[in-house]
Amino acid sequence: MDLLIGSHVGMSGKEMLLGSVKEAISYGATTFMFYTGAPQNTRRKPVSELRVDEAKALMAEHNINMDTVVVHAPYIINLANTVKPETFELAVSFLKEEIARCEEIGAKILVLHPGSHVKAGEEAGLESIIKGLNEAMTDIDQLHIALETMAGKGSELGRTFDELAYIIDHCDYKDHLGLCLDTCHLNDTGYDINNWDAILDEVDDKIGLERVLAVHVNDSKNPIGAHKDRHENIGYGTIGFDALNAVVHNERLKNVPKILETPYIDKKAPYKDEIDMFRTQTFHEIKDLND
Ligand code: FE
Ligand code: FE
Ligand code: ZN
Repeated sequence: MDLLIGSHVGMSGKEMLLGSVKEAISYGATTFMFYTGAPQNTRRKPVSELRVDEAKALMAEHNINMDTVVVHAPYIINLANTVKPETFELAVSFLKEEIARCEEIGAKILVLHPGSHVKAGEEAGLESIIKGLNEAMTDIDQLHIALETMAGKGSELGRTFDELAYIIDHCDYKDHLGLCLDTCHLNDTGYDINNWDAILDEVDDKIGLERVLAVHVNDSKNPIGAHKDRHENIGYGTIGFDALNAVVHNERLKNVPKILETPYIDKKAPYKDEIDMFRTQTFHEIKDLND
């Protein structure tokens, strides 16, 4: 099977999800990730306006399987906020709607940032996340929520596999929860990506490798343990091409979608070149930028 790799793509204008698929194809991708609206707000169009059927027809022509496509929840959702009740309530109601939207679209994987405890402490934050997931996931059906490993910036939770295991183990909908491993975030929270197999062993031990539903493949602008979360282009950061190439080609996560979230260069997407590097397993300078 071809490498299961893609990038974050846009969804806007008249073409909506059809445009997302076209963008993914232009990068030579075999999967992709999108937000159902702007990542920083909760305004969303109804699914009937997203041109889902046309998108699916084009995906079928290009052998892109909807089961591998990833949706990312907006990052303002904070289930860990116990300080402002209205933030928690918004997070629960939006997540509930987002789950329904994903089910209607036919997506199977929704990536979610666990949340930030905003000075209330780790324990209060983790309990709030579990409570929020239990309230939001009541009607979940085909979808799985992939909790993303976080860089530990500010009061972010989900910085360690122990925290993520705690959330998963205590949620009523455990069967619908999994993980998204982000290489930049793991580096920034203190893991050495060069030891990817050891990281996967820890995941397997504490959570189960079968729960890994997506991998975000990003280089990092910062050293291990910096707790920053600033993504860098593949081969241009502190993780480096060889370690990231080993992640992408690791047999243990062969069937898990690998998604690039590296920064644009001169307002242009670097993903065609970056995907090509992984396909050929050779680093080269990024030059073939897409508008
Ligand atoms: Fe994310
Ligand atoms: Fe990520
Ligand atoms: Zn990030």
